[in-house]
Amino acid sequence: MPTSARPPARDVVVVGGGIVGLAVAWRAAAAGLTVTVLDPAPGDGASRAAAGMLAAVNEADFGERDLARLNLAAAARWPSFAAGLAAASGRDVPLLRAGSLAVAYDADDLALLRRALALHRAWGLASEEISAADARRREPYLGPRLAGAAVVEGDLAVDPRGAHAALVAALDVARGAPLGAPLDGAAGGTVVRQGAVRLERSPTGRVVAVHDDAGTRHAAGAVVLATGATATGALLDGLPQVRLPVRPVKGITLRLDAGPGLALEHVVRGTVQGRPVYVVPRAAGTGAGAGSGPNHREIVVGATTEERPDDRRAEAGGVFALLRDARALVPGIDEAALVEVTPRARPVTPDNLPLVGPTAAPGLLAAVGHGRNGVLLAPLTADAVLAALTDLTDPTDPGPAAAALAATDPLRFATRGAPA
Ligand SMILES: Cc1cc2nc3c(=O)[nH]c(=O)nc-3n(C[C@H](O)[C@H](O)[C@H](O)COP(=O)(O)OP(=O)(O)OC[C@H]3O[C@@H](n4cnc5c(N)ncnc54)[C@H](O)[C@@H]3O)c2cc1C
Repeated sequence: MPTSARPPARDVVVVGGGIVGLAVAWRAAAAGLTVTVLDPAPGDGASRAAAGMLAAVNEADFGERDLARLNLAAAARWPSFAAGLAAASGRDVPLLRAGSLAVAYDADDLALLRRALALHRAWGLASEEISAADARRREPYLGPRLAGAAVVEGDLAVDPRGAHAALVAALDVARGAPLGAPLDGAAGGTVVRQGAVRLERSPTGRVVAVHDDAGTRHAAGAVVLATGATATGALLDGLPQVRLPVRPVKGITLRLDAGPGLALEHVVRGTVQGRPVYVVPRAAGTGAGAGSGPNHREIVVGATTEERPDDRRAEAGGVFALLRDARALVPGIDEAALVEVTPRARPVTPDNLPLVGPTAAPGLLAAVGHGRNGVLLAPLTADAVLAALTDLTDPTDPGPAAAALAATDPLRFATRGAPA
């Protein structure tokens, strides 16, 4: 295709406008850099399916100590990130702060829960076992048949779609012009609804521009890949030194419209005969299911996990199992309306840690592979990428966050050989 437009060079071009790419773009624009985000469908990747749990404690799992440290550092960023984003965008970005209840359906599930609680104790994560009766006192919508429970006060939740919309708005505000208006080189961010098809390198090998599928060349001081689970193979042609092993792991979430009869206040996570399931409420009047009235709220049920790409098919068996297990924990969802079934793929790396920061190609940074915690990790990733772009140490929390981020170095697969 002919090159019909030559937009002015930007400090940064971000390829991919999911929650991660947009968080990077907003932080960069807010720091005074000029930013273009390329994405044919911003927000329609994994970020669309995400339930929005910011669950550093409940996500802690055996063999994933580095990820647990990273998740904790990321969770600490969310309150200030949400407040800053709300101020910049003029939109509410509310956090659900009631905490989460981890519940066990039967005796075997309780044994699993206690194993997780022992891990929390060993790693210094705050959780507390409570009786099923106590759990029901805290959350009256829990079902009558539970073997036990625990409370995790510190785990938060956010509506990822609301946060994504706020990021688009904040970028627009930073730029001072309506979304989609012609580029003028002004400071701030712009979202261009095109796919990236090629990275251009200078004779010295530095990545200097991105070509989109309309034939436009976007010159950039630096390029950030935030393409989620989408294969980056074609983009990385000619850059054999850059290895970003991300595979798609499909998952389905369900969105329900709950009326006033199901005013759930806590994230409820649990296992039902060994199968994990969660039920995540939004504040009344918010979320995709809130269309039916001010006392209605969205409730997200999730999620299936399958080692395969996102084919956008919602298998009946997966949907059935989620509803069956969710109603075993919260029977009131029987009365809610099913408004959406959303299959997408998590972008997963061989060690379940994301790839964040400079790659082996000068001018090219990675912000991919955020797996099952990309919403949680987006603010920390954005700060880390901004620090790399500007060569600054993150001034807010150089200690624990910097140590946790060391595990996300994209060079770890380039130097250690092929991933599993
Ligand atoms: C079912 C499910 C439930 C989840 N629940 C949670 C949760 O509760 N909490 C949590 O923290 N995380 C959760 N996650 C994980 C989270 O959704 C992801 O880690 C996160 O959304 C990744 O964000 P991203 O921006 O990297 O990717 P995406 O949201 O997938 O965005 C990538 C974007 O890149 C674009 N793109 C790809 N290739 C190109 C190209 N060549 N040119 C231009 N654009 C391109 C795509 O169009 C897409 O918009 C869940 C995921 C799933 C699937």
